[in-house]
Amino acid sequence: MSTFKAPKGTFDLLPPSSATYLAVREAIAAPLQTSGYGYIETPGFEDVSLFSRGVGESTDIVTKEMYTLTTKGGTELALRPEGTASVLRAALEGNLHKAGNLPVKLWYSGSYYRYERPQKGRYRHFSQVGAEAIGAEDPALDAELIILADQAYRSLGLRNFRILLNSLGDKECRPVYREALQTFLRDLDLDEDTRRRIEINPLRVLDDKRDAVQKQLVGAPMLRDYLCDACKAYHEEVRALLQAAGVSFQDDEKLVRGLDYYTRTTFEFVHDGLGSQSAVGGGGRYDGLSEMIGGPSLPSVGWALGVDRTVLALEAEGVELEIPAATSVYAVPLGEEARRVLFGVVTELRKAGVAADFSYGGRGLKSAMKNANRSGARYAIIGGERDLAEGVVQLKDMESGEQEPVALADLVAEVRARLG
Ligand code: AMP
Repeated sequence: MSTFKAPKGTFDLLPPSSATYLAVREAIAAPLQTSGYGYIETPGFEDVSLFSRGVGESTDIVTKEMYTLTTKGGTELALRPEGTASVLRAALEGNLHKAGNLPVKLWYSGSYYRYERPQKGRYRHFSQVGAEAIGAEDPALDAELIILADQAYRSLGLRNFRILLNSLGDKECRPVYREALQTFLRDLDLDEDTRRRIEINPLRVLDDKRDAVQKQLVGAPMLRDYLCDACKAYHEEVRALLQAAGVSFQDDEKLVRGLDYYTRTTFEFVHDGLGSQSAVGGGGRYDGLSEMIGGPSLPSVGWALGVDRTVLALEAEGVELEIPAATSVYAVPLGEEARRVLFGVVTELRKAGVAADFSYGGRGLKSAMKNANRSGARYAIIGGERDLAEGVVQLKDMESGEQEPVALADLVAEVRARLG
């Protein structure tokens, strides 16, 4: 071990378990890639104000959890705590919304940073795969995204997750509700922090996890009763499309989420095997965000799924992903000339698409075979002077232990045939 450790709240992904993370990212991205979503990558940091304006001044993410820094040139930057604001910023800057085809559909995968109190499922550096559909107001788009996330989780073999669904209203009906809620909340017995929250973002008080607060919330005005006709109709259509697609969900009128930019559809994927950090992913519609960051009106919807928590969910359900062996064939040369020949064979195998590795470091047969074993390879190729003189190598089946000579010229074809 060196003197250094990974910073608090972070961890390294190391083989072999890192393969699971990679497979999860790929599984989440796969349905997006066949549904018209293009890949986008943005910098790991942005101007602080993109997040304070976009994500919201009153959110924990912005007030407590952002990693900020001042550059030598005096610019205030923040490590990105989430993906949506950056993706929208990049789409606007790149004029993707002017290229004609709306919605602009994008997906991304990357690292995010929040200064949180670390615990299982809650880290300071974590990984998300996300999707955004920018510039269209269409309930089918909201439904599409929820269906694609559901498909991704199911393709991984997850079953014990639930979809929570709510509508947060729009700029017509939400302000009316907000005022009614504030009037109700101001009469309750609450601490200073929560009182402040009533004035900045009262909807988030509904989300308070404390029993003492929840007890007082009985009888609070509910947004459902304040939704305008347009929002109601929109929400009903999203629900109908999900039902038609066979995607089950639960209406959760208390679902608010921790970001200020959501309007209308909001949803969360929760997994019942994860304890307190049960949200594996979430998202919603953010019709006002573009204007909040200085862009034109571009109603949009998106989600982000947490890779770390998805891996924890797989563990909780005892799902083992089928990860192809990193190495199918392991070459063990005996002697200098064999080294050269087998190194060439390994290159040929790799070109032919066979995962192959080589015994480096001039090891003896015994130690090289041990490494062949550890590599998980199905076959070992062993070649000595006498074999090469006869134009063959020994092909050893590592499962059965059987070994037979195969002509060098036929080796690649033979191995491919055997591996199926
Ligand atoms: P949010 O942007 O907070 O809605 O987060 C979306 C998803 O990212 C969550 O459902 C989690 O799966 C994941 N996530 C958010 N914060 C963290 C964190 N601190 N550690 C691990 N995963 C996180």
